[in-house]
Formats: sequence, C-alpha cells, structure tokens
Amino acid sequence: MSDLLARHRAVIPSWVALNYSEPIEIIGGKGCRVTDSQGRSYLDFFAGILTNMLGYDVAEVREAVERQLATGIYHTSTLYLIRGQVELAEKIAKLSGISGAKVFFTNSGSEANETALAAALSARKANQVLAMRNSYHGRTFGTVAITGNASWKASSNDPFGTHYLHGTDRQLPAYRNLSDAEFIDACVEDLRALLAAAIHPADVGALIAEPIQGVGGFTMAPDGLFRAYKEVLDEHGILFISDEVQTGWGRTGEHFWGIQAHRITPDLMTFAKGLGNGFAIGGVVGRGDVLDGIRGNGISTFGGNPISTAAGNATLDYVLSHDLQANAAACGDIIIAGLRTAANELKTVADVRGKGLMFAVDLADPSTGKPAPALAAKALEAAKERGLLVGKGGLYGSTLRMAPPLTLSEAEAREGLGLLVDALRAVDA
Ligand code: PMP
Repeated sequence: MSDLLARHRAVIPSWVALNYSEPIEIIGGKGCRVTDSQGRSYLDFFAGILTNMLGYDVAEVREAVERQLATGIYHTSTLYLIRGQVELAEKIAKLSGISGAKVFFTNSGSEANETALAAALSARKANQVLAMRNSYHGRTFGTVAITGNASWKASSNDPFGTHYLHGTDRQLPAYRNLSDAEFIDACVEDLRALLAAAIHPADVGALIAEPIQGVGGFTMAPDGLFRAYKEVLDEHGILFISDEVQTGWGRTGEHFWGIQAHRITPDLMTFAKGLGNGFAIGGVVGRGDVLDGIRGNGISTFGGNPISTAAGNATLDYVLSHDLQANAAACGDIIIAGLRTAANELKTVADVRGKGLMFAVDLADPSTGKPAPALAAKALEAAKERGLLVGKGGLYGSTLRMAPPLTLSEAEAREGLGLLVDALRAVDA
C-alpha cells in the first residue's frame, strides 16, 4: 500500500469510493489525458466523473477563472449582484426551452435536486414524490429519499414519502418479456393505480427522473414512457423534474438535454458535473413561478459564486461555439459501433448501449448469463494497465461506464476504443 493510500485510509471514511486495487493519484492533465504521480499517462474516458467535459487545462476556462481571481473578488453568491451569475443564468434559461425560466445555482448535483424538490413540494403543497427504480440523485437527505436503490443511499432515513416507478429496468418477472408498447402500458397502469388508491395525487409534488440513468449503468427508458407518464401527471398538475446532471450539455449527441429525446418539456431540470469543467457548480433551471415559490431562505453561500460562474460561462461558451454536441454524436457513433462489432466475438460482453459520449458495456458470465461484477472490476484494471480510465457501476456493479470529454478527437475515440476492446479481450476468459 502506498504511503498516501495508508494516510487516506486513516483519515477519510472507509466508504469513500476509490478505483483500483492500487488507487492512483492524478497530478496533471491536458486535453483528454491525465498523468499520475508515477509519471504514467492515461486517456480519460470518464472525464473525472463527467466533470471535465472539455478535458483538462483548457485555456479558455483557466483564463476566465484567472481574470476573476485577479479582481480579488471571489466571495459569496448572494447579497450582491454578480454579473457572471446573471449572464450564465440567462444562457441556461434560454437553452432550457422552458418559457419564463429562472435559474438557481448550487455547488453540486445533490443540492440542485434538493432545490428542485423543495420548489416542487412547495408549489404543490405536497409531501410525496415519484422517482424511478434504480435512480441516483445524490447523497443529501432529500436526494437519498429519491434514490431508487438501497445500496446507493447514503442514509435510509427518508424525510418524505417516495414511490418508485418502473421504466429503465424490466427486472420484475411480470415486465421481462413485454414489448416496449406493452411495457409502457403496464407502467402507466401501475402509475394510475398508485394515484387512484395508494396516494392522493394532490399530495404528490413531482416525478423526478434521469433521462438516462447514470449510476444505474446508463440504462434507458423505452421511447414514449416518460411522455406517457407525463400525460398522467398533467391530469393532476404533478410536476416533472429531469435530472440532467449526467445527460446535459449535449453529451448524448442527439439533443442538448437528455429529456428532449422523449419529446417532453419538463417543469424543472437540474444540472451539475460538467458545467464548471471541474469547478464546483450545479443548479436548477425551470418554471419561474415554481422556483419563485420557495420562500424564506434567500441564500446559498457559495452557489453561483464569481469563480464557479466564470468557469461555467467559459465552459458553456466553449461547448456551444465548438458544437461539441455534434462531436459527441460523431465520436460516440464510432465507439459504440466499434464496441458492438467487438462484442460479437467477446463471450463475456452481454450488452453494449449508449448515446453519443455516454456509453456502457455489461459483463456477464457466459455460462449462466448472470452479471459478472468481478469481471468488470478486472476489466477496469486491465483498461488502466493499458492507459485508459473508465468508470464502473450499474445495478450489479457489472457495467463499465464511459463518458469521455466532449472535446475527444476522432483519433482519440479510435485509440480509446482500441484500448477498451483490448482490455475486454484480456478478461474474456
Ligand atoms: N444526479 C445524478 C444523475 C448524478 O449522477 C449525481 C452524481 N453522481 C448526482 C445527481 C449528485 O451530484 P453530486 O455528487 O454533485 O452531489
């Protein structure tokens, strides 16, 4: 064990996630590559944790932050007007497609979701929330209550009532063999039954969903499901919150926000991770009347502060001016097609899925078809040995998750694909 790892273990809680049997210390980065303390270089196919959506040491972001630092003003986010905060809010409100949208900035995705929940529950004077099975929404008190998998909950003390809906998984025997249309009908029937008998619709504030489940393994609801759910919600005035923490900013290639693929306009959307390209920023964008409805607390000390909004403005401008959404689509197509071809000769690859630069590989035992988390752990190590960083997750821990910076070049896409396929081959016993 390295000295730093021993010191880490002594003072950091044991549940803080570290990858690899020998965790690495990353000390430098440029473009889509990072360097560790041993001088080894890696292509980063997880972009931190989808945080560095432009990659590392991006001049435009660094200079914007340096300009702000040079003013000597890097303080709170409220009490005084902050030009960068207003500008960033204007851009995000416009991009949201929600009419009359307003934006509240936070430091993280968890706080963004807390704010969305507070707004929805206040607006509806409600105390119940609908969430999706196997969702992940954060580690704060409210967000653990809407996280739909016990093993990802940082606490099991749920502060309000949550009811979990189906959609991105078909685990239950009754759903397994249904066609998409039958599955959607069954899910909607369940929702109607829930609202007819188990809870009163007037007590329900919102449905919150990730358009593509992130921690859940990049799993996707069948097209039409969220639209069908929303029709039912609209009958009762229940709000729809799209958690875009992983799917926003064009990462999926086809749309700027993940939920657009489902052709519905949510009431609120939450975001975080990539917007600051590594600087801590999150927020909620949505209906002004709903966000205005939160009363009694006008402060987030650091949410939307001058530094994080300088980083956010520079990152967002870069995404838009370089059309990184189109790049995500082009690079994603190359990689996903390449993985699908490779999967034909890999016994342990059970599924390849994804959109744009958000794609995943499930590993399973070829003899039983059961998820193989140990193989995924091996593949993660094998990729690292080959100079590629990827993520892991999914319901059974048997999914490799990849979300490279949106600035990935086609050459880097092919290079990463080659390294990943090589790592998968190495564990394909
Ligand atoms: N929502 C989603 C979809 C996420 O993936 C995450 C983080 N993995 C969060 C919310 C919570 O964000 P944070 O860790 O910044 O609080």
